[in-house]
Amino acid sequence: MTQALEQTLAKVLGTRTAGTLEKLGLVTVEDLLRHYPRRYGTPGEFTDMSRLTRGEHVTVMAEVRTTTVRQMRSRGGAMLEAIVTDGRDTLQLTFFAKRAGVLRMHEDKLRPGRTGLFTGTVGDYRGRRQLVHPDYLIVGVDATDADEAVLEASRPIPIYPAAASAPTWRIAKAVRTVLDPLLEADVPDPVPAALREKHGHGTLLEALRDVHVPDDEAAATRGQARLTYEEALVLQTSLARRKADRESHAAVARAGRSGGLLDAFDARLPFPLTAGQISVGDEIAADLARETPMLRLLQGDVGAGKTIVALRAMLCVVDSGGQAAMLAPTEVLAAQHERTLRALLGPLAEGGMLGGAENATRVTLLTGSQGAAARRQALGEAASGSAGIVVGTHALLSDTVQFADLGLVVVDEQHRFGVEQRDALRSRAERVPHTLVMTATPIPRTVAMTVFGDLETSQLTDKPAGRGEITTHVVPADNAAWMTRTWSRVREEVDAGRRVYVVAPRIDADVPEDDDALDPSLADADAGAASDAGEGGKAAKRPLEAVTDVAERLRALPALAGVSIGVMHGRLPADQKDAAMAAFADGRTPVLVSTTVIEVGVDVREASVMVVLDADHFGISQLHQLRGRIGRGNLPGLCLLVTHAEDGTLAHERLTAVAATTDGFELAEKDLELRREGDVLGAAQSGGRNSLRLLRVMRDADVLAQAREDAAALIGDDPTLASAPELAAAIDAWLGEREEFLERS
Ligand code: ADP
Ligand code: MG
Repeated sequence: MTQALEQTLAKVLGTRTAGTLEKLGLVTVEDLLRHYPRRYGTPGEFTDMSRLTRGEHVTVMAEVRTTTVRQMRSRGGAMLEAIVTDGRDTLQLTFFAKRAGVLRMHEDKLRPGRTGLFTGTVGDYRGRRQLVHPDYLIVGVDATDADEAVLEASRPIPIYPAAASAPTWRIAKAVRTVLDPLLEADVPDPVPAALREKHGHGTLLEALRDVHVPDDEAAATRGQARLTYEEALVLQTSLARRKADRESHAAVARAGRSGGLLDAFDARLPFPLTAGQISVGDEIAADLARETPMLRLLQGDVGAGKTIVALRAMLCVVDSGGQAAMLAPTEVLAAQHERTLRALLGPLAEGGMLGGAENATRVTLLTGSQGAAARRQALGEAASGSAGIVVGTHALLSDTVQFADLGLVVVDEQHRFGVEQRDALRSRAERVPHTLVMTATPIPRTVAMTVFGDLETSQLTDKPAGRGEITTHVVPADNAAWMTRTWSRVREEVDAGRRVYVVAPRIDADVPEDDDALDPSLADADAGAASDAGEGGKAAKRPLEAVTDVAERLRALPALAGVSIGVMHGRLPADQKDAAMAAFADGRTPVLVSTTVIEVGVDVREASVMVVLDADHFGISQLHQLRGRIGRGNLPGLCLLVTHAEDGTLAHERLTAVAATTDGFELAEKDLELRREGDVLGAAQSGGRNSLRLLRVMRDADVLAQAREDAAALIGDDPTLASAPELAAAIDAWLGEREEFLERS
């Protein structure tokens, strides 16, 4: 940035104007120039007045037909009345003042025949629509000569995201004041000249003129295209640079060895690996054998068998003399992973123990809530290297945990694995561990390219054979007969020796939300979804179902007499969580009422039914995750989505979509379709100084792909961007905010 762009608006425009612009978060000249018009008004295309409704806040474009100033005998003072028209209907503009003189200024501007934009709240005076004291802009009135007036009057009119204190034309005027005097030298361009030429884009200054003061529609479009590309390029170059940086670090090659643990494990597997597990396993093995740190994202639907893939990779590293760490998003999941891995490994995990296999390793759990003694022992096993596999939460990556030789980090469910964690890994040692990130939340290609553009990706597309089919139904909560049937169905299931999850959105009446909801970005989406549901009717006012209430209610239900009902939520101490899961798994409490803590990864093969209460409170992918908790053995699963949402509402449509398919990728697309576009990248698109303004992940897939290619070439030739300092600066300016949203992604 140069001096000119860094200047404060207060200095250039005066404190008064700057103060109003500051309410929009605009502080510097650059901020203002990057505040792009949302859309453009077409001169001569008047607003249809017949559509204005009373009480509505509107901005209309219209032509002034008459203007009259007169004294008011009854009230004293003077009044100006202007009639504006769209050519058919009319609207009255009314201004009052103590003296007629004050109104002359308006009269002078509101000359018959002139076109303007008028903003105000539509009122009604004697059956006639009117705006009282509207704010307005007369097109071309500031022009210095007739030619310019004609040009001004024919330009598309930029309509800015505005605030009441800063109407769009006041912003436009401020933009002109800062933009008009700028020279090329004042506006460094992040897009290198060669790329501008390649794509036929103009300079940044030209683009800013095109979007803020377009001569015609084509100019506005041209400017937007160039600025969209710029955003894509900055984004993709930052990812390419990150990737190059990772690749410049060294890792220890972990090629495994024949006759080791991995071979022994494969020989013990009670089932054949799926084709996907084999081919992804090969990809990972090839990565591990290189001296460049792996960073691979493994996508695979719920139940696709990712754990086995991860375990095989970990064994390969252990066979090579290294250690592996497995990170879960919660302690409950970490504890479960440890049990699962031990069970899968059998004697292979009993290193140093009687009956353990020769060259067996150890699986160690390390969590914050462990007792001091257990924790000390776990820390010791990690540091000495006697634990080949250490399982825990992200706290494992903190400095207090030492590994003898950490070769691989597996991150299960990527939600909380942002750039910062990736960097923490990198800075840990001079040898960077290989990293495998796993997720069951399908990420559409364009989003993956944007948010995880520096990762390699693999997909598990097939599922292990012999999975129970899951049937899903939407159940109207207000229908007593259906609800009775629901609970008697639960009873039947329990009597048949199976388990049932009952999921509720809240913990108890006093705790409004379950704060350990596993996916903060979904929590945001849900907030939106919940208000959508609210529009549908009474759902918004009724308190949401809470775990403790539901458990009590079910215990009192005759249909469930004699059935033990367990409770599970994020506020329970770790040992109680473990106890609740264990009691559910072994059937002591065959019904478990829980929040979404069970959303990810929990694996109880006898669980066959899931009842989700207030299901419309959850997002599509969250419901899909939840549903993945049943049908894990070969039992057919039944998922009942109980809701107060009414047919025809968006909330109901989402539930119907979940009921219609168990294909996670299909649901992910449906999810995108039903969400507003801005939600895809969350905070990054919602404003703020350095966020994405024009780039839309879904719409601009081609631009993203193009920029990705350009960025790769650029970084390939010049990894430090020495030849493109403006681009490097733009990335730095942008990164701070981006890191933040990646954290949430
Ligand atoms: P996810 O991908 O959701 O993490 P898991 O790894 O938990 O799935 O696997 C789900 C279940 O499928 C586990 O009980 C696991 O033992 C089993 N499984 C994994 N791979 C296979 C396979 N190739 N054949 C049969 N069952 C498998
Ligand atoms: Mg899993």
